[in-house]
Amino acid sequence: MDKKVYVCTGTCKAEISEEEYEGGLTKCGTEGCSMQGHTFEERIKCGTCGQVYRPGEAHSH
Ligand SMILES: [Zn+2]
Ligand SMILES: [Zn+2]
Repeated sequence: MDKKVYVCTGTCKAEISEEEYEGGLTKCGTEGCSMQGHTFEERIKCGTCGQVYRPGEAHSH
């Protein structure tokens, strides 16, 4: 099953689970990351292949 995740679009490329995000982890805190202090962006993670893509973006196998 596909699931919602949140990612840092900066250099650290952190991936945050929905649970972590709702638990208050909403911004990148990685020292030296180009997007440090910026809010994570919403993505969808494919449960089959693990690829992360934008909501609304076509994804098939
Ligand atoms: Zn980051
Ligand atoms: Zn896939």
